[in-house]
Amino acid sequence: MRLLEKAPAKINLALDVLYKRPDGYHEVEMVMTTVDLSDRIELSPLKENEIRIVSENRFVPNDERNLAYKAAKLLKDTYRINEGVEIYMEKYIPVAAGLAGGSSDAAATLRGLNRLWDLELSLDTLAELGSHIGSDVSFCVHGGTALATGRGENIQQLTPPPACWVVLAKPTVGVSTQTIYQQLDLNEAEHPNIPKMIEALDAEDYEGICANLGNVLEGVTTKLHPEVNQLKNHMKEFGADAVLMSGSGPTVFGLVQQESRAHRIYNGLRGFCEDVYVVRLLGDGTLLD
Ligand code: ATP
Repeated sequence: MRLLEKAPAKINLALDVLYKRPDGYHEVEMVMTTVDLSDRIELSPLKENEIRIVSENRFVPNDERNLAYKAAKLLKDTYRINEGVEIYMEKYIPVAAGLAGGSSDAAATLRGLNRLWDLELSLDTLAELGSHIGSDVSFCVHGGTALATGRGENIQQLTPPPACWVVLAKPTVGVSTQTIYQQLDLNEAEHPNIPKMIEALDAEDYEGICANLGNVLEGVTTKLHPEVNQLKNHMKEFGADAVLMSGSGPTVFGLVQQESRAHRIYNGLRGFCEDVYVVRLLGDGTLLD
């Protein structure tokens, strides 16, 4: 039996870092929502008792470094599963982009293996397991729209944003998340107003959401990679209602309500950037099943 699981990307509507903890992790507050740009994960039982990763993307490791491998291994070890699995992944989410592609693959693997191996674990249990793999995995297990706190493992579901279009554009620069966090000066940085973002979501206030987009990491990444700011400016010029960098970057997203405008922005950006997508928000999590 072959089983399919969709692994959607996320964007950060707001991302704040509160402080660096004694254990070395950063205490964060992130408002995240899923978008309909997804990897496809196929899980098939293997005769051999092993985990095999098959991916044709040259940027994605085919071994135990793959986050989907780590997810399968953790589930297998925790519940003493004596079965093998092949994890075939078709990557559509750009790699190392700030869109949590790897985390979503890990989350989809947890959800899928829960079904394949009849474990009947709750999403909360899978999210808790996922938190040991990476800080975005817990959110990706649930999908939808949520506030993630702690290292990202405490998830509180939020009212999804009103339907709108999202234009994603990834400049061709490599961003190291570690470097961005190391260079972040919490006193200098511009912090988003998370309560106001939550208020705007609760009120289904699109303008309020646009007005309160904010990412504390943006200043650091744009200083290192001016291309990020250039793309943001182009998105605004072409008609986005609001623009922001996602995660530690370098992907930039723009929100718009009309599909025609989203395509106008897409066409305008294609002259400057190879990786551009027009997608819908999946903020209510309905397409996860
Ligand atoms: P985040 O937004 O959570 O910080 P990201 O979008 O910046 O994540 P990923 O696409 O998840 O970054 O990839 C980061 C690194 O993880 C890559 O350089 C890659 O080598 C490694 N990796 C491991 N497993 C995967 C996977 N399944 N898909 C993509 N990258 C993976």
